[in-house]
Amino acid sequence: AAPVRFENVSKVFGKDVVAVDNINLNVEAGKLVTLLGPSGCGKTTTLRMIAGLEMASSGKILIGDRDVTKLPATDRDVSMVFQSYALFPHMSVLENVMYGLTFSGFAKEEARSRALNGLELVGLQGFDSRLPSELSGGQQQRVAVARALVLEPQVLLFDEPLSNLDAKLRRQVREDIRAIQQDLGLTVVYVTHDQEEALAVSDEIVVMRNAAIAQMGTPRQLYDAPNDRFVADFIGEANLLECQIVEINGDAATIEIEGYRHTLPRRGLSEGAATIAVRPSRLVIGSHQGIPATVAKATYVGVRMEYTLTGEFGQVFAVHDDVDAPLDPGTEIK
Ligand code: ADP
Ligand code: MG
Repeated sequence: AAPVRFENVSKVFGKDVVAVDNINLNVEAGKLVTLLGPSGCGKTTTLRMIAGLEMASSGKILIGDRDVTKLPATDRDVSMVFQSYALFPHMSVLENVMYGLTFSGFAKEEARSRALNGLELVGLQGFDSRLPSELSGGQQQRVAVARALVLEPQVLLFDEPLSNLDAKLRRQVREDIRAIQQDLGLTVVYVTHDQEEALAVSDEIVVMRNAAIAQMGTPRQLYDAPNDRFVADFIGEANLLECQIVEINGDAATIEIEGYRHTLPRRGLSEGAATIAVRPSRLVIGSHQGIPATVAKATYVGVRMEYTLTGEFGQVFAVHDDVDAPLDPGTEIK
């Protein structure tokens, strides 16, 4: 497994479609890094530039110590798993997994034994003689993963690999991908537009917006300390509240909303008006002190209650695990 590095990389299609705008990126060897962002922000283009399926318009791309910027896809030692599994329908599962191996020069017996090994890694031992059409979507995607894995690439790329699977399978296949990546110590760059998926599988997340990087960090860093409203809102839900920062004391900032004061980490803030983002699960609902609010809506979703709370501040969304003693709409709370 090798690290991947982007130095001031841009991609312009035609005269003026800037798909990727001067990005810098470091993916450590053996880590799973996710590119997360809304449709059209440049994720696939970034991935395809690592694979050599698109050439960078400017900048430099390194895989390990090699400058691969101008190398064709076949010389990069990278494999890619696509959203559509792209299996050959007339070939058996085993032949599909062997294909790339024989193509890159392995003798038939060696290719066969490596392919069988790959199928075992993804939990598909015994499926080798089936046709893709005889497999479920999740199994087909595992074949695609096995096919990429057996090439033992320096870097493995995934472009929205779960989008064609239903919700239950998505969770299972994403856990499988993460487990294999960690077991084998693979460098993986993983594209998704699904924030929950990104939080679940990643060592690091790169949030993209309009062809540029909005923020990168661990899932916890991005969730707990987003740089701006876009990141706060894109990674999970955020309640945005207007407040005054009334006191700065060392690393702590005290905010005030409707006379209620609360102290938080300073994070570069200074006194004056500010907007804070509060996660729905961090809002504490009580009756003594706090900001006055009314329960406008209460929804039971099984594992928790979801509340819409209104007040002078506007409206916030809160989740609470009080499923056995839910609050009725109209209840006055703090
Ligand atoms: P994402 O994967 O984040 O949805 P893409 O990387 O596919 O975004 O696309 C980024 C931008 O580049 C979009 O505006 C898209 O229309 C444009 N784009 C992508 N591929 C091409 C292409 N081959 N020719 C022209 N424009 C393209
Ligand atoms: Mg895409």
